[in-house]
Amino acid sequence: MSAALTSLDATHAPDTRSWVESANAPDTDFPIQNLPFGRFRHNPLEPWQIGVAIGDRVLNLHATGLIDHHDMQRLMAAPVTERRALRLAIWEGLREGSALQKVWADALLRQTEVELGLPCEVGDYTDFYTGIHHATTVGKLFRPDNPLLPNYQWVPIGYHGRASSIGASGQQFHRPRGQTLKPGASVPDFGPTARLDYELEMAAWTGMGNALGAPVSIADAEEHIFGLTLLNDWSARDVQAWEYQPLGPFLAKNFATTVSPWLVTMEALAPFRAAFERPAADPQPLAYLDSAHNRSAGAIDVQLEVWLQTPAMRAAGSEGVRLSQSNLRDAYWTLAQLVTHHTVNGCNLRSGDVLGTGTLSGPKPEQGGSLLELSQGGKQPITLLNGETRTFLQDGDTVTLRGSCERAGARRIGFGDCRGTVLAARAL
Ligand code: CA
Repeated sequence: MSAALTSLDATHAPDTRSWVESANAPDTDFPIQNLPFGRFRHNPLEPWQIGVAIGDRVLNLHATGLIDHHDMQRLMAAPVTERRALRLAIWEGLREGSALQKVWADALLRQTEVELGLPCEVGDYTDFYTGIHHATTVGKLFRPDNPLLPNYQWVPIGYHGRASSIGASGQQFHRPRGQTLKPGASVPDFGPTARLDYELEMAAWTGMGNALGAPVSIADAEEHIFGLTLLNDWSARDVQAWEYQPLGPFLAKNFATTVSPWLVTMEALAPFRAAFERPAADPQPLAYLDSAHNRSAGAIDVQLEVWLQTPAMRAAGSEGVRLSQSNLRDAYWTLAQLVTHHTVNGCNLRSGDVLGTGTLSGPKPEQGGSLLELSQGGKQPITLLNGETRTFLQDGDTVTLRGSCERAGARRIGFGDCRGTVLAARAL
């Protein structure tokens, strides 16, 4: 069945145009080949409604008559055949020459005129650690003689995070306070984190859930993923270093996590599937994490970028500087392997659960997906184009993650911005 998610149909044809003119711009993230789902409202008193991004507009899906509810989890939990039928119906209505143009024109809103929220009510949140280049570089900082622990290449490492502090793009949060142990000290300090960082990640959002006690096989795993967003796992490195042993991340991570607002569906990502490759010298996945389909098409080619806008850049009217680039293919495990491993003990995933990939860093030092890597643990400040320097984030800094898929013979699609801003620590 997973093959259904990698096969192409009319909705992927690269030359199809939409009657929504902005969807035909070459650089839009949302051409008619994308059709991602999100939630919008006009004001905070209004309930969230389901929308589809098309160019610089949002299509109010309920107003088209294609759905009779406002429940994104319900839409996400539908079987793959229903999901494909809905995508096709939206595509039919938005393509150039559609008889529905006259009626649907009234269901369009400007994205700038509405608030875009979380794509659904977030259920549970798990953050994995699939970026092997990140794990190796960070491991070297903490354990120079033993950077990659022996389980890493055998078992997808993850921890249960906190869903309550996940916010949509535009999230602003106060610099967190916490306990830290200064170098050479034996007693911790308490105060605002001095080593605030971002993490460049993607998130897989569960569609159809599984019953408690019923593992999802690798063959069925992709059917349980509705789509992907970008995810910034903000991290307080000094708090993390003091608290992470023996049970893992806690308050260093759960003060804010930002996601992009549009769920780019597995169907939209079909043209950008890629082989999942392991270096021959590495341990190969155990049988329950392996399949021919996972090897031939289990990976997805998503180009990723991190941008930083400092307050000085904002004042100068600059949108900021690009700090690094990497790719979802830098992950050591596929999304299907994450779903299968997560449920192999009988754990149940539910519609709206978020699975973070972990920091996606490329193999080169300049491809680090966090400042911890780019500044070599804070030892080597990076110099920005305007002469400013950073080891970690300062108050007022805005970090924006971007992602896009490009391939010859396919229309480029993107994820929209995942933007968040650091505010000064709040007075206690
Ligand atoms: Ca993380």
